[in-house]
Amino acid sequence: MRITPRSHEIKNVVDILEDPTFDGPEALAKAVIKEVGDMLQMRDLFVMVHTWADGTKGLNFGPFGAPAEAETFAKKMSFGGTGRVVPLTSSGIALANTEGKENWPGYCYAEGCGHAPWSHAIDGASRGGCRLEVCNCNRFVKDDPAKKAKKTTAKRGVAKGVNEL
Ligand SMILES: [Zn+2]
Ligand SMILES: [Zn+2]
Repeated sequence: MRITPRSHEIKNVVDILEDPTFDGPEALAKAVIKEVGDMLQMRDLFVMVHTWADGTKGLNFGPFGAPAEAETFAKKMSFGGTGRVVPLTSSGIALANTEGKENWPGYCYAEGCGHAPWSHAIDGASRGGCRLEVCNCNRFVKDDPAKKAKKTTAKRGVAKGVNEL
C-alpha cells in the first residue's frame, strides 16, 4: 500500500520516537507500528473488485492508498476479466466521529476532549464547550496548540533577525 505521509502523522510518530519513557527499541517499534496501523485506519482506502471473464465473482484485492495504485496493480497482474476500483469508507473516521480522536486534525485539540466539532455548542461565530457529559472541554480548539507554538517561535525569530540588521 503506497501512501503519502501527512504532516500530523509525521508529528505523531516523531512524538513517539522522541518519548524518552519507552523501555528499549522493541517497545518503541511496537508503539510506532500500532500508531501507523491506527493512522491507516483513518484514511479512505481502495480495493480492486475483480470479475472473471465468464462473469463469476473474482477476488477482491487491497487495500490500496489511491485508485491509480489499484489500477497499476491490476495491469501488472493481468488476471483477465474486469476490475473495478471501489472506495472503502474509513472505519477509523466513523469511530472518531462517534467517540472522538485526540490529537487529530478535524477534532477538538482541547486536552481530554478530541470530540468532533458538532459535539460542541455554537457560540457566536465559533464553537463553545463540548456538550458530551463525560467531557470537561469548555471551548473547541481547532488547531494543534503544539503546531501553533512552533510557528509563533519561527516568526519571532525572523522578526528578531530583521531588527538586528
Ligand atoms: Zn469533548
Ligand atoms: Zn472540545
